[in-house]
Amino acid sequence: MKFCSECGGPVIHRIPEGDNLPRHICEACDLIHYQNPKIVTGCLPVWNKQVLLCKRAIEPCYGLWTLPAGFMENQESLEEAAIRESREEANANLKLESLYSVISLPHINQVYVMYRATLLDLDFYAGPESLDVRLFNEEDIPWELLAFKTIEKTLRRYFEDRKKGKFNVYNSVISKRNRLGEKEDIIR
Ligand SMILES: [Zn+2]
Repeated sequence: MKFCSECGGPVIHRIPEGDNLPRHICEACDLIHYQNPKIVTGCLPVWNKQVLLCKRAIEPCYGLWTLPAGFMENQESLEEAAIRESREEANANLKLESLYSVISLPHINQVYVMYRATLLDLDFYAGPESLDVRLFNEEDIPWELLAFKTIEKTLRRYFEDRKKGKFNVYNSVISKRNRLGEKEDIIR
């Protein structure tokens, strides 16, 4: 950030008085421009035993498969954002069931919030951000062609939980430091 979005004045990067992290501060109007993590939300839509995946038509990860998800907008709830993303990417009509996974990604300043959902019909089709939208049985999931680690974790847990007949809510962290052996907490 070089210029203030309020007054157009020059912005410097320093620790404000009484704070402990450097911030972007406007030299003209003194406004502090705080930057905070972004929320990515979406869902895991299910039809009978099958899960809906979207093949990405945009970067990053063009051509790889993902669950419908995207950045939450201002003025909307998490649930509204998860449903909107599913409509935009897959034109999917669905009902959210329950919060399912919350995954912090501190190294890229994002938090993923994923819901379990039930598809209401089979009228889905690829939106402009998807090359293809399909239902997959567990044995056909393209594990090697999934776009994001958060999506892989959410899907793997889903199939494990389904076998056990019980769905927990998961809270975990994927960071650069522990990408291979990430710490994981289960919240009931
Ligand atoms: Zn300013």
